[in-house]
Amino acid sequence: MTSGPASAVRSPAADAAAASVDADEVVRFARALIAAPSENPGGTEDEAAAVAADILSSLDIAPEIVRGEEDRPSVMARLGGAARPSLAWNGHLDTVPAGSPDTWSQPPFAGEVVDGKLIGRGACDMKGGIAAALASAAAIRRAGVELGGSLWLHLVADEELAGIHGTKVLWERGMLDQDAAIVGEPSELQLGLAERGGAWITATAFGAAAHGSHPERGVNAITSMARLLLRLEEALPDLRHPLIGGPTVNAALIEGGSAPNVVPDRCAIQIDRRTIPGETDPAQVIAPFERLAEEIGREHPEVRITFELHEWCDAAEGRPGDPIVRLAREAVAAEADGGPPAAVGFSGITDARYYLNEARIPTVILGPGSLTVAHTADEWVEVDELVRAARAYARVFVAFLGA
Ligand SMILES: [Zn+2]
Repeated sequence: MTSGPASAVRSPAADAAAASVDADEVVRFARALIAAPSENPGGTEDEAAAVAADILSSLDIAPEIVRGEEDRPSVMARLGGAARPSLAWNGHLDTVPAGSPDTWSQPPFAGEVVDGKLIGRGACDMKGGIAAALASAAAIRRAGVELGGSLWLHLVADEELAGIHGTKVLWERGMLDQDAAIVGEPSELQLGLAERGGAWITATAFGAAAHGSHPERGVNAITSMARLLLRLEEALPDLRHPLIGGPTVNAALIEGGSAPNVVPDRCAIQIDRRTIPGETDPAQVIAPFERLAEEIGREHPEVRITFELHEWCDAAEGRPGDPIVRLAREAVAAEADGGPPAAVGFSGITDARYYLNEARIPTVILGPGSLTVAHTADEWVEVDELVRAARAYARVFVAFLGA
């Protein structure tokens, strides 16, 4: 996209939009969203979607609810007249469960502000970010800025469980066709340009059952699995990504055996193997585990273990030179006291992969709040950072789409 000269994020229109961000409004939006629980798993996004839709309607922006097969709601809305250029801003309406309220210092759905921090489930991940985006849209309206293209808000369901019933539905329906995208996951207003992927692998050890009083007559599948478990990290390739680091492996679940007096003939584990950009072939991820099992088998011939991929999620990577990334960098720099934001990697998996990998749209992850407090009790985000995010978004929206 034509993004204009380097000063596009500091144009009079961008300045006016940023200056029109109302701090009280950002907090009000965030509190309303937090007060509408949308725990995933365990709930639906209906209440939170209704709050977002009401806010949009109050801004004269018509919301559209998109539901996938499971009836989970994502809210789509468009601000601006011309079709192009177009920019998507994505945020998820669902949160992880709040857990026991006893572990919180404030009620998890109250959205209390204590010492400049907004506390609540979703404050940081990522109802705060959604509030910032909505407040920036409100500011653009209030400033009387007419966008030269279209800003699409994709407020989606189900990100926490892989986005199958949220962003993926939008992708399947051809709705991810913008010229660029911002995914507002908490990045501390740094530029998220890479995220890890995942391979979920079932490893099964096969033994031979026997009476528990005669283990020598059987083959203990749990013992075979134990020999593998302690060496799992040897199956990691020697790879490093500059923003993400190396791949990881975690034995996440285990089951085996049938009775206390029987030699177990089967033991299975779920391996959570996180990948880095460039690891695109499941077979190459699984092969080192198979080689490791073979190696163990040379010393312990009774060991027989198979590996099966049951889920795969590609890692994703943005490009630092894309106009949307450059404008995001300049917009954050315009709102921060420090220097320009750094490029960072995400250790988790986000919906950015649908934009980057499926729709092939230039994308940056940029949002308020820190991943280190996401999913925790007393999840919080600084009110100041929410306001800075809203102002930075307003600058990017106006700069990318023109005024
Ligand atoms: Zn999130």
